[in-house]
Amino acid sequence: MPGFELFGELERKEVNDVLDNGVLMRYGFDGMRKGHWKAKELETELTKTLDSKYVQLVSSGTAAVSVALASAGVGAGDEVIMPTFTFVASFEAIMMLGAIPILVDIDDTLTLDPKAVEAAITSKTKAVMVVQMCGSMANMDALRSVCDINNLIFVEDACQAIGGTYKGQPLGSIADIGCFSFDFVKTITCGEGGAVVTNNKTYYINADHYSDHGHDHLGNDRGAETHPFLGYNFRISELNAAVGLAQVKRLPEFINIQKKNYTILREALVQIPEVTFRTVPDGGEESYAFLNFFLPDLETALKVSAAFKENGVDVCWNYYENNWHYIRKWEHLKDAKSLYPLSEAMTSELSKLSKRDFSQSDYWIGRNISCLIKLSWTEEEVKNRAEKMVKIIREVL
Ligand SMILES: *Cc1c(COP(=O)(O)O)cnc(C)c1O
Repeated sequence: MPGFELFGELERKEVNDVLDNGVLMRYGFDGMRKGHWKAKELETELTKTLDSKYVQLVSSGTAAVSVALASAGVGAGDEVIMPTFTFVASFEAIMMLGAIPILVDIDDTLTLDPKAVEAAITSKTKAVMVVQMCGSMANMDALRSVCDINNLIFVEDACQAIGGTYKGQPLGSIADIGCFSFDFVKTITCGEGGAVVTNNKTYYINADHYSDHGHDHLGNDRGAETHPFLGYNFRISELNAAVGLAQVKRLPEFINIQKKNYTILREALVQIPEVTFRTVPDGGEESYAFLNFFLPDLETALKVSAAFKENGVDVCWNYYENNWHYIRKWEHLKDAKSLYPLSEAMTSELSKLSKRDFSQSDYWIGRNISCLIKLSWTEEEVKNRAEKMVKIIREVL
């Protein structure tokens, strides 16, 4: 997945344009810029890549999720439904707004289970946030219909899935508002950066103003400096955007390499009858950033994971024991360990988390092995890796 593996001349050229004129800020200073507007160019490029009307760059993926929710009007006391398997940023971004994360089970897609979402809806539910984990996706038609029937905002975190599609539409552009991260380990990187993507003009204008102190600078670039509403600073810097501009142009090349490497590994594992693969919904095409497969049970998966580690098969994980991505080890969340006071509604919801039944999520995450697909592997390396993986799994079985 990481774009940083293929990093060089193109990135350096874009960054040098910015260093030449010295304007590290994305807004203003028109006279000094020598025509370079890297953040704006990257936004335009992303609207094409993501087949969407509007893109607002921000400082990180976490910022993108928070800005997206805020732009859609999610705030204090609102419940936001999210999956048990994601990155910690999901609940952080919700809680930053005083909104309450409601965690629900995933299914064999390793993303939100539409039935679990439906069961979690209350009168306080405002939004459903799907997270397209590890390069694949949820059943988006089913989630869309749950959101429409219940009049909920549909948010899509596609931080790990750029380049994937559902029924021909790029992931991240399918829900009402989408989010991307370009942190150092994502498929394309800015160093640090993120994007909010939408076809909804109001959400876009909100995201633009909110991510820059509430300034109304659309069209005249801060000229008027009025403040229609409150905002914060989630701006991306021009230097970061310059890196992203070089990387986004290479996305098709990255996805091709991922697909080639993924296919070699998958075709080897398919020979083992006990190995099954994550369900990709009808009409879905993964970004091939990860290969996810299931073993018959948790015990086997843990043994395979340990044997991979011992034998030098790196970048493969079982998330059951992982404290970044899966609810079981999110003690700081379950214990509401906040530096500052949280609302009563928030602490009350968090205190229920450790008693909730997430056995369906445990079932899928427990048996899963998730392998990152690297861009820098040679064909020989991938083939050797595939052989090694098959041998290890056969030995454990
Ligand atoms: C990386 C990631 C984020 C957060 O992105 P940052 O840029 O690191 O803040 C959010 N959601 C998911 C699913 C991610 O993988």
